[in-house]
Amino acid sequence: MPDLIPAAKPLIGDDERAAVDRVLRSGMIAQGPEVAAFEREFAEHFVEGRETVAVNSGTSGLHLGLLACGIGPGDEVIVPSFTFAATGNSVALTGATPVFADIDPITFTLDVSSVEAAITPRTRAIMPVHLYGHPADMVGLHALAERHDLMLFEDAAQAHGAALHGRPVGTFGSFTMFSLYPTKNMTSGEGGMVTAATSEIARSLRLLRNQGMERQYENEIVGFNARMTDLHAAIGRVQLTKVDAWTQKRRENAAYLDAHLVGVITPIVAEGAHHVYHQYTVRIPEDRAGFVKALREEHQVGSGVYYPIPNHRLPSLARYAPGLDLPETESAAREVVSLPVHPSLSHDDLARIVAAVEAVAGAGA
Ligand SMILES: *Cc1c(COP(=O)(O)O)cnc(C)c1O
Repeated sequence: MPDLIPAAKPLIGDDERAAVDRVLRSGMIAQGPEVAAFEREFAEHFVEGRETVAVNSGTSGLHLGLLACGIGPGDEVIVPSFTFAATGNSVALTGATPVFADIDPITFTLDVSSVEAAITPRTRAIMPVHLYGHPADMVGLHALAERHDLMLFEDAAQAHGAALHGRPVGTFGSFTMFSLYPTKNMTSGEGGMVTAATSEIARSLRLLRNQGMERQYENEIVGFNARMTDLHAAIGRVQLTKVDAWTQKRRENAAYLDAHLVGVITPIVAEGAHHVYHQYTVRIPEDRAGFVKALREEHQVGSGVYYPIPNHRLPSLARYAPGLDLPETESAAREVVSLPVHPSLSHDDLARIVAAVEAVAGAGA
């Protein structure tokens, strides 16, 4: 039997290991020069030099970003329900209310008219997710935010290097979070990077990250310990030198799948969008569970369902959305399957994925 083709595969090489060893040998492990260098290099690489602040996870990045922008009790922040729970969780953790809007069925990202319908006098901000690596409609959302005097934030956890009409994600929002979790397009082990539109927001992020201190023991505000370590930053710095080639490979893999897959509804890229294919997500309108099982058991092809339960139906978040109906979110949650698209796929793996999908979808699984 052929080996299983995994749905995701973090790539850690000798140079990442050497970088960690270099930091370990230095004896300086906590946040220090590696983190500072990583912040600078990340900013130059992805967000046209916007100020960035490294933290210990993407979730911390969202939480601190919201706090740095003044979000708190009594406020509402409009978010998608079709995302990882960290998006809504981070809003709830500030004491504000996550308000869930529906998605566009083509791009799986926030639908501007659904967001507009969710605006109330308490709404302070909109936080779209660039889901699967496809940029949300930042042009439409920006216009809407301007009209209603709302802030705009970005959850770019899955979208390092994505862009819309040539403008990179991470440069639209008052703040933007990029996750560096192992399965994301690049990793630092665990970690997050937050970009800030102003130096005031950047300073607040740095204070919140480190017990409210800019100068040692002169705590200005109440803050967290959400620091990234130099060990993690050293890994991230090496990954930063490789991520463009990996993204290119993801895009080539996606183009191959687009051209060869039959029997499933393949992803569509919006006009002007630069998709970085964190996931390659198809729709299986009938018997998705059977499709996933047959891919794995009969063809040794792994896949993933992101996300099977809409956030507004999760036990943790449902109380923020009593009686809410989001039809496009529901149908996406029922139908989506992400096929392997990661950069370590060989040509043979891609051909196997295509043959497996054709066999299973053709059999009417
Ligand atoms: C991964 C992810 C997060 C959280 O990032 P962590 O680094 O795992 O804390 C938030 N939002 C989305 C959409 C994600 O995919």
